[in-house]
Amino acid sequence: MAKIISVANQKGGVGKTTTAINLAAGLAKAGRSALVIDVDPQCNATSGLGVEPARRHPLLAGKPLAETVVMTGQEGLSVLPGSQSLADADALSASNRQRASELRQQLTTELSTYDYILIDCPPSLGQLTRASLGASAEVYIPIQCEYFAMEGLSQIIELARQTKARDNRRLEIGGIVLTMHDPELELANEVANEVRGYFDDAVFDTVIPRDVSISEAPSHGLSVLDYAPRARGARAYVELTLEVIDRD
Ligand code: ADP
Ligand code: MG
Repeated sequence: MAKIISVANQKGGVGKTTTAINLAAGLAKAGRSALVIDVDPQCNATSGLGVEPARRHPLLAGKPLAETVVMTGQEGLSVLPGSQSLADADALSASNRQRASELRQQLTTELSTYDYILIDCPPSLGQLTRASLGASAEVYIPIQCEYFAMEGLSQIIELARQTKARDNRRLEIGGIVLTMHDPELELANEVANEVRGYFDDAVFDTVIPRDVSISEAPSHGLSVLDYAPRARGARAYVELTLEVIDRD
């Protein structure tokens, strides 16, 4: 059965999409079949994997999900493409518990052939993020190693707690991913230490460095693992992948 992981943080630009794409790519290279579900109306994960966004989002299209999955150029890595149509979609509303459990049901039964499903959430705590958490076994929270990194973290953690209490008892905070770390910046090290001091084991050991290859890869429709396999950024995502596999 697929392990469903939401990558979420209501802040934009913290590395959610980058982590969803490159972790999925890493898992695929490690021989685990991986599916990225893009529920951000901006569709960055979809285009970053070299796939066209959909006119209607597969989750709203009413067709079997497996028929709307698109294979990427990388073996073992597929995407359920995002769509701008989700921007005003209330159809995923998880305010009712039933919709969240339906969604979970849909993902686990229709897409059960994957080893991992990574849901790339939009930068908000709205219905799409709520529905995603409602359907997930774990949430990974990327945070940028910059000033104010911890600000707002309590809100996503609180949403995960609420979701667990109300809709989805299985949900765990799978881990915090430190991203865009610049070792030459004293502040970045301070932030990393502060986050570890506070969240301890919940923080992945791997720290994702700031690396230009990571930001260039999506414009080529590739993960950084294919775009620049020897770059620091690619090696870091491989390391993160191994940690994720190790935890299972
Ligand atoms: P989010 O999905 O949280 O909004 P993204 O993953 O889209 O954030 O990242 C925001 C921007 O930062 C993107 O342009 C991305 O390419 C870039 N980026 C993300 N991680 C790194 C990194 N480790 N090094 C350099 N650039 C990065
Ligand atoms: Mg994003």
